[in-house]
Amino acid sequence: MDKSDGCCSTHLIDGDGNFNVDGIENFMKEVKLAECGLSYAVVSIMGPQSSGKSTLLNYLFGTNFREMDAFKGRSQTTKGIWMARCVGIEPCTLVMDLEGTDGRERGEDDTAFEKQSSLFGLAVSDIVLINMWCHDIGREQAANKPLLKTVFQVMMRLFSPRKTTLMFVIRDKTRTPLENLEPVLREDIQKIWDGVPKPQAHEDTPLSEFFNVEVVALSSFEEKEEQFKEQVEGLRQRFFHSIAPGGLAGDRRAVVPASGFSFSAQQIWKIIKENKDLDLPAHKVMVATVRCEEIANEKFSSFIANEEWRQLEETVQSQPVPGFGRKLSSILDACLSEYDAEATYFDEGVRSSKRSQLEEKLMQLVQPAYQFMLGHLRSGTLDKFKEAFDNALNSGKGFAVAAHDCTEYFMSQFDEGSADAEIDQANWDCSRVRDKLQRDIDAHVAAVSSAKLSELTTTYETKLNEALSGPIEALFEGANSDTWPAIRKLLQHEIEIAVAEFSGALSGFEMDEEVKDKILLRLKEHARGLVEAKAKEEAGRVLIRMKDRFSTLFSQDSDSMPRVWTGKEDIRAITKTARSASLKLLSVMAAYRLDDGADTIENTLSLALMDPKNGASTNKGTSVDPLASSSWAEVPASKTLITPVQCKSLWRQFKGETEYTVTQAIAAQEASKRNNNWLPPPWAIVALFILGFNEFMTLLRNPLYLGVIFVGFLLVKALWVQLDIPGEFRNGALPGLLSLSTKFLPTIMNLLRKLAEEGQGRANPGPQHNPSVAAKKFENGASDLSSSTSSEVTSSRNGTEYSSKENYSKYGYPFIKQASSFSSPAEAPAWGGGGKAYDYIIIGGGTAGCPLAATLSEKFSVLLLERGGTPFANVNVSFMQNFHISLADTSPNSASQVFISTDGVFNSRARILGGGTCINAGFYTRASSSYIKRAGWDAKLVNESYPWIEKQIVHRPKLGPWQKALRDSLLEIGVSPYNGYTYDHLYGTKVGGTIFDRFGRRHTAAELLASANPEKLDLLVHATVQKIVFDETGKKPRAIGVIFKDEKGMLHRALLSNKYRSEIIVSSGAIGSPQLLLLSGIGPKADLEKFNISVILDNEFVGKGMSDNPLNTIYVPTSRPVKQSLIQTVGITKMGVYIEASSGFGQSSDSIHWDHGLVSAEIGQLSTIPPKQRTHDAIQAYKKRKGNLPHEAFMGGFILEKIARPLSTGQLILLNTNVDDNPSVTFNYFSHPYDLQRCVDGIRLTEKILRSKHFTNYTKCNNETVEKLLNMSVNANVNLIPKHTNDTKSLEQFCKDTHITIWHYHGGCHVGKVVGPDYRVLGVDRLRVIDGSTFSDSPGTNPQATVLMMGRYMGMKILIERLGRAAGV
Ligand SMILES: Cc1cc2nc3c(=O)[nH]c(=O)nc-3n(C[C@H](O)[C@H](O)[C@H](O)COP(=O)(O)OP(=O)(O)OC[C@H]3O[C@@H](n4cnc5c(N)ncnc54)[C@H](O)[C@@H]3O)c2cc1C
Repeated sequence: MDKSDGCCSTHLIDGDGNFNVDGIENFMKEVKLAECGLSYAVVSIMGPQSSGKSTLLNYLFGTNFREMDAFKGRSQTTKGIWMARCVGIEPCTLVMDLEGTDGRERGEDDTAFEKQSSLFGLAVSDIVLINMWCHDIGREQAANKPLLKTVFQVMMRLFSPRKTTLMFVIRDKTRTPLENLEPVLREDIQKIWDGVPKPQAHEDTPLSEFFNVEVVALSSFEEKEEQFKEQVEGLRQRFFHSIAPGGLAGDRRAVVPASGFSFSAQQIWKIIKENKDLDLPAHKVMVATVRCEEIANEKFSSFIANEEWRQLEETVQSQPVPGFGRKLSSILDACLSEYDAEATYFDEGVRSSKRSQLEEKLMQLVQPAYQFMLGHLRSGTLDKFKEAFDNALNSGKGFAVAAHDCTEYFMSQFDEGSADAEIDQANWDCSRVRDKLQRDIDAHVAAVSSAKLSELTTTYETKLNEALSGPIEALFEGANSDTWPAIRKLLQHEIEIAVAEFSGALSGFEMDEEVKDKILLRLKEHARGLVEAKAKEEAGRVLIRMKDRFSTLFSQDSDSMPRVWTGKEDIRAITKTARSASLKLLSVMAAYRLDDGADTIENTLSLALMDPKNGASTNKGTSVDPLASSSWAEVPASKTLITPVQCKSLWRQFKGETEYTVTQAIAAQEASKRNNNWLPPPWAIVALFILGFNEFMTLLRNPLYLGVIFVGFLLVKALWVQLDIPGEFRNGALPGLLSLSTKFLPTIMNLLRKLAEEGQGRANPGPQHNPSVAAKKFENGASDLSSSTSSEVTSSRNGTEYSSKENYSKYGYPFIKQASSFSSPAEAPAWGGGGKAYDYIIIGGGTAGCPLAATLSEKFSVLLLERGGTPFANVNVSFMQNFHISLADTSPNSASQVFISTDGVFNSRARILGGGTCINAGFYTRASSSYIKRAGWDAKLVNESYPWIEKQIVHRPKLGPWQKALRDSLLEIGVSPYNGYTYDHLYGTKVGGTIFDRFGRRHTAAELLASANPEKLDLLVHATVQKIVFDETGKKPRAIGVIFKDEKGMLHRALLSNKYRSEIIVSSGAIGSPQLLLLSGIGPKADLEKFNISVILDNEFVGKGMSDNPLNTIYVPTSRPVKQSLIQTVGITKMGVYIEASSGFGQSSDSIHWDHGLVSAEIGQLSTIPPKQRTHDAIQAYKKRKGNLPHEAFMGGFILEKIARPLSTGQLILLNTNVDDNPSVTFNYFSHPYDLQRCVDGIRLTEKILRSKHFTNYTKCNNETVEKLLNMSVNANVNLIPKHTNDTKSLEQFCKDTHITIWHYHGGCHVGKVVGPDYRVLGVDRLRVIDGSTFSDSPGTNPQATVLMMGRYMGMKILIERLGRAAGV
């Protein structure tokens, strides 16, 4: 591009016809052509070569086209087409210098280029200057003729030609005036026009239609330069405002806006080159299309880059933008206005269509932002609605009104907001968003409504619960004839109140009547259901209630004063009254009587149970038992709470259990009668009468008589020792009296009998059966127990034991006998013949064994063999306050047998009828439902078996203060939710059941035997099974019987019947069962052979996988005495740790003189003694000194932390072949790192409890630091594990050094390893194991519930397996 002399020019098309695109673009920028809109003009010049065209242009327009150098000859100067901007002419005028038409260089062949350039000139220019020599005018061979011809010809090729101004510039004019020249020239032109062939449409079209013809003449530049310049100056004036109306330019029909000029020129040249017709209007549209598109794209891009828009878009994605619509509309408007401004000169149709497209694109671009905005509006409005709605409800506004008002207000808020977000350029519909908001609001209202309704329902249900539960319980407790009418009245009254209040509360909801009625009906049903549930619950504990009522009426007189059995009372009548009152209770509880209607239950019961003879006669002499039915005549099954047959069984149990009280009373009365007999004996009266007073007195003073007095004294002293009177009273007055009253008479008899035997023995000194040898044979070493086989009752320090002649019927268990009473000796000739054979022999009358035996005896003959004695009169077992005494009692006839695992932890196993339930802490809680599932148990049967246990022996605990403090602290530190009193295993904190009743009396598995069929059950106590005997003649070894040892050390055998389903079931507990299998020849071969046990089945898994849940305790001293409590509350965490607690010291203050040995729970109280004094020797010394300790030293309690499902396992192996000795047991506590980790987590949790407000408020201890408590706990600890100095610094070390056991050990006979899923021992026939030894995990937080349940469950399973429907399930 040439920019010299202030002019700007470019070589537009070169000599080869190439269009210089870059050149023109730069040129346009330089001259700012795009800004001119339509205000510009294009001039071109044509003419013969070397006719001075460039010179003319340079003078005329101030351009700088290269002129011909006169000295270089007439060689061509302009090749192709040049373009320049005219200098100083307004409007902007572009001028094109076209290559000369007759140039020598191009020759004739180049006419094509001449034509093309001429056509281009005509198409693009408003004014075409035709340079011509003056002397050519009127000449036939004028140089311009071909040019003009060409011009006219190509003009025809313009599809719709524009009117162009043809200005003929006559150069070097002669003297001939222009007036003369012009007509000639015009004539020439006309001739040429006429001679040009035209398309038919233009055949008659005059030249003026296409051209304005102008003629100017200029003097010769070379000869008359001054004149030439003057004329040129004059001509130049004509080019000013050439495009104004009447100006020089043509009609400008095809003019394109300046910004499209470059593109338009390119396209025109392209079409010309392709030799196509040039349709200028279409071309104009095409240029407009391209340019408008370009402008639109450019505006679109600049919109995207617009900072304001970008910020708006970014902000609206995260939050609503106030004035969104206004802001965005204005940005859009600016963009579109810019488009409009730039595209304004282009074809309108094209322009507006491109505008619409641009608008559409812009709308698409901004729509998401708009949607965001609406989204914010919707969610914001919804949130505000919720808040306002809540506030409205809280302020007491009626529900329906609040919902309506808030909805209306916030929908209008949304409408306002959406109007504000609207964009002027768009016509978007926000109704979908609005609808969604409406739906959301409606849904929220509905949700709140149902929540409020259910809250209201719960409130009124709770009110009903509160209003009904207590009174109903009280009514049932004092059950009499008025109970059900009173309940009905109470129910109706409370329902009326609740319904009235509830209706009032519902009025705000404006619901339709039908719905309201349904809700109220549900409330009424709830109330009735509540009564029903209460009635069922009470029916479940009717036996306890009956016993309570009996003992209240029996032991208290009409003034509620305790009776003293003086001898005047009519015990028979009192018993009858107390029984009939209890029977009344039973009759009230037997049916659910919420609807009016009489029944005869009371009458039936009374006739059948109180007056059986009359009862039979009312049955018209037939012997039909009115209670041998499972339904009452007038009562439908749905309303039966206790069936007749259940009543009968309950009555039997009730009578059995109250019998003891009656016999005690009779004994007391007799004793009292004897004591009150103050008169001298008859012989003394006779002597007095015969001898007279003085003689009698003399006789009395006789020394011989004094001797007699001395003998009497010795006798009393002997009784004092024999009865162990101080020992009996150490557990309190009541148990002492109870125990003494049973022992007194038999002991006297015993003494007398001994004296008689002594006398006889001396008389017959022959070698007879020596009782002391028999006593020695009894390997428990209970020599004092059986020091005389003929004695009926002997006493031990631990309670009362009954000899072979003891009759357990008085406890309601006629089937219990001493083992020695069993008739078959072990030496019987063959296992196959003789003696009674049983369908089932159960080894171990423990937690699982008792319910199992009771259940199986319903249909089959059962022999239950238990190595221990009975719990019924054992005060250590019966009273919670003596919990620790059994554990501490290491004597051979203790209910608990101590063992120490090789890990160094003291442990205990039960040795008594009732098993673990007789010595445990009583906490009762079920297994989780996932445990039941994992065990593969039938959930329905499980859910029937648990209640079977619960209604017989489980009680709701009276929550002790320590347990309450733990409960509240657990909740405070987040072990939640609170699940209340429940047997279920649920995460959070709960209170579980207990087998201790509210008087602290323990109810054991042995009591479940009351449900047994006495006809089919034989139960031997003190029967220690030595081994199971197998028949090995078949394919598989087959269990056929057992050998057991009685209390005298004699061996017996018991036979299994030959029926193929008969089975021996081992229920000897997690230590006893694997031990017995090993002793019977089932176990790892090498281990068995070590003890010369003949191998029945080589099974390496027997005794393997033994596991015990480690227990770590934190001792917490208190500043005041704490009430005794065993476990009642538990925290079930998700980290696999259970938190429980125990507190207080059960015995009376003087009992601390008693030595409980190393395993004593009270040893923990040592922590209150300064640590330095707590060496091993100090402990021994302490035991001696502790009698002098103040009682306050025994204050405080423990927080217990138990790990669920320990992964550490160990094993059980025999140490010898004596079944009475403990095998070696190893648990490998904390050998798995995960167990240790959980222990540490648990201790941390415990620390939180210690620091919790509730706990510190309760303990009121001197804000001890946790480290101090840990230190106390280390020192309070009772195990044989060496302690470390960092015990209180490292929780890991603390866990390892101080753990004890919570006695939940299990395993040894795992399912899948030793027994199959049906608990049958793998590899042998007719043998099962059913107890805690089969568990891989201990169930629930504490296992007894599930072991008890398992006994019942498996009993039922076996019955169903064997009998199907006939099992009666
Ligand atoms: C001190 C202590 C406190 C506990 N506290 C709780 C608690 O609060 N809550 C809870 O849920 N669980 C508690 N448990 C655990 C629970 O009591 C036991 O897991 C459960 O009783 C075990 O039942 P079992 O049937 O497997 O064995 P056991 O109940 O021990 O029954 C086995 C029976 O077999 C007898 N026997 C053994 N060998 C022979 C033989 N060779 N011949 C004849 N008879 C034999 C035994 O004398 C015993 O009676 C506690 C346990 C103990 C020891």
